[in-house]
Amino acid sequence: MSNPQTTTCDAGCNQQFTVDQFTTERIGNGVDKIYFACTHCNHKYAAFYSDIGVRRLQAKIRRVQQKFANPHADHAKAARQETEIQQQIKERMDALRLKVEGEGGLNG
Ligand SMILES: [Zn+2]
Repeated sequence: MSNPQTTTCDAGCNQQFTVDQFTTERIGNGVDKIYFACTHCNHKYAAFYSDIGVRRLQAKIRRVQQKFANPHADHAKAARQETEIQQQIKERMDALRLKVEGEGGLNG
């Protein structure tokens, strides 16, 4: 997860840059936009959106992942739960992105 990722600035200057930092921006209605910016032209790319529901699921997945450190825990079950919650997080983030970007802004 900590490995820097190289991407192309395809909506900006078309140069390659390394994504080494994510910035969180409050965009209202309890929604956070997590984005990274091109190091050349500073064009912003939304990585994902987060809200209380996403944060709750992320807390839940961290609890499940802690079971992997416990030799007495059921690791197969924990792995299944991890996959399940990851799917829920993805769906929620996708729905949030659609809500924020699809409507062209937030109203009320
Ligand atoms: Zn750029």
